Amino acid sequence: MRKSYRLVQKNFRDLKSEVVDIAILPWGATEPHGYHLPYGTDSYQSEEVAALSAELAAEKGVNPLVLPVLPFGVQNEGQRELTGCINLRPTTLLTILDDIAASLIRQGIQRLIILNSHGGNDFRFAIRELQLKHPNLLMVAVDWWRHPIIRTLVDNPGDHAGALETCVMMHLKPELVSPETGTGRSVGFSIKALNEGWAWTPRNWAAVSEDTGIGDPRGTTPETGKIVVDRVVAEIAELIVKLVKEENIYQKL
Ligand SMILES: [Zn+2]
Repeated sequence: MRKSYRLVQKNFRDLKSEVVDIAILPWGATEPHGYHLPYGTDSYQSEEVAALSAELAAEKGVNPLVLPVLPFGVQNEGQRELTGCINLRPTTLLTILDDIAASLIRQGIQRLIILNSHGGNDFRFAIRELQLKHPNLLMVAVDWWRHPIIRTLVDNPGDHAGALETCVMMHLKPELVSPETGTGRSVGFSIKALNEGWAWTPRNWAAVSEDTGIGDPRGTTPETGKIVVDRVVAEIAELIVKLVKEENIYQKL
């Protein structure tokens, strides 16, 4: 049997004398994902990508520990009102991360990757805030879906429940993907600056999407999902190994 690096599957004997090199915290959301993907889509993606990346990194001689997935995220207007969508305030996200960081530090763990699947979860402000309090914990946020390789593998990945998330879920959790998809039709802002991104306000989901999806999920395949997951996992595993083994994460000045 392949060794698991998921904390939820370990017992105290497994961990009693182990030295953990790096903790990986999968972070998802509980929200509608079109008509065809489950509310747990982001959580499943984070959890599975984290576990697979940890396994691969461990083959290269590091000892990672995958923490339980955080299933709630920061949501937008127009999502928060939908049945079953659970919202965290950004300050709650910060507080949860603060407590997890404090626990890890007490246990001598000095590196943490937050493996995020949900666009509303902004860890940059949280890491900047917590660095003041926990200067000896290296915190790195990974938004796996932003990896540049994905654009070369999926033609129109979409933003939410589109081709990218659909193919990944067809590979990871095929039993939870309904063949009856919507179209993922969406609109942008009527103001150019907001579409260009240099001016920003959160999107009201009810105003921009017909079925909560943004991006067409039709026509993608589990084979594409497997390629995406394998490539992204390889990249994250390499990052895990580098964060543990590099003495200095900066080049020589
Ligand atoms: Zn998602």
